[in-house]
Amino acid sequence: MNTKTFFYDLDLDSLKSELKTLGLPEFRAKQLFQAFYVDLVEDIEEVTTLSKDLRHTLSEKMDFNRLKPIESLLSTDGETAKMLFGLIDGRAIETVLMHYDERQTLCISSQAGCAMGCVFCATGQMGFARNLSTGEIVEQVMHFARELKKTGQNVTNIVIMGMGEPFHNYEAVMAAVDFLNDPLGLNLGARRITISTVGLAPEILRFAEEKRQVNLAISLHAANDELRASLLPIDRKYPLYELMQACREYINNTRRRLTFEWALISEVNDQDKDAYELVKLLKGMICHVNLIQLNPTKKYRGKTPSHERALAFQAILTDNGIPCTIRLRRGIDIHAGCGQLAQHQRKSEKTDMI
Ligand code: SAH
Ligand code: SF4
Repeated sequence: MNTKTFFYDLDLDSLKSELKTLGLPEFRAKQLFQAFYVDLVEDIEEVTTLSKDLRHTLSEKMDFNRLKPIESLLSTDGETAKMLFGLIDGRAIETVLMHYDERQTLCISSQAGCAMGCVFCATGQMGFARNLSTGEIVEQVMHFARELKKTGQNVTNIVIMGMGEPFHNYEAVMAAVDFLNDPLGLNLGARRITISTVGLAPEILRFAEEKRQVNLAISLHAANDELRASLLPIDRKYPLYELMQACREYINNTRRRLTFEWALISEVNDQDKDAYELVKLLKGMICHVNLIQLNPTKKYRGKTPSHERALAFQAILTDNGIPCTIRLRRGIDIHAGCGQLAQHQRKSEKTDMI
């Protein structure tokens, strides 16, 4: 069993206490933060401001890397890169980097697998393995920050939309967000971070109370409970009435625009009547709708609608005053959809990762 502390699990104060137990002065903590979060070193051996002995002591007590790159794939257009990381217990998670205009957006995972069981989602189809620790969430970002630095780039945006339900791992995710946002940490503006939730109403309310400047997206996919529950089992626990109430409270509390996500599935939720039902549900809210063309997965038979259908759906929303964009489908050829690489690899290599 690994009894070492994981560097990326620690905030500055916890690191100071950890160092104290090793008889080291507090200022070493800032030095280590500077080295790993600002200078983006990968290994303690690179921190040459520390003596060799000190580096040795620290590496005996602490892990500075826990994610093991297993497989990396680049889409044919070169714009999307996906990494499958192995965790210390042999499970695997995915992180996706998307280059778009001048932005480098990273889509990170919050759990290994997911307990929410959304029928069209590859991660949901795998089931839940475990929560990621704060450090395992942060290190996904640090890995790519280091890689991008080699070409003079940096991570500009983070979306917590990879594997897992972030609000089902609330504390670890928020601690990670705070680290990434911390001026002594990665110093990424909160407004550049987006969390997507399947709609856990109590956590939406909690998040609204905490008033972080982080963006929030809600996976809606249906505007009536019958259809939504057939796609997203969580709708039975938090039906639309309760979910929309929490969303309105979030908007009132934070005055921030909320994003609703809608994966278009042919003849399931992509018809004109579905768009009008959505208009009715969102009327008067400060919001934005993101349409995603369904990414086909192994265990779901739904089909992806045509681009014309997506445009027609979008037009109904915008004509009725609801801003709406069609999100580009990225990295389909590298199974970049949520959980798809892990699902694909599991099948082809018969490894027991998730
Ligand atoms: N658990 C969170 C975040 C991860 S999923 C959530 O559900 O919001 C990120 C987004 O991808 C969600 O909107 C989810 O519904 C969507 N998604 C999952 N599988 C998909 C698929 N096969 N095709 C299109 N969108 C999908
Ligand atoms: Fe989990 Fe989100 Fe996938 Fe649903 S869509 S199973 S909540 S990761």
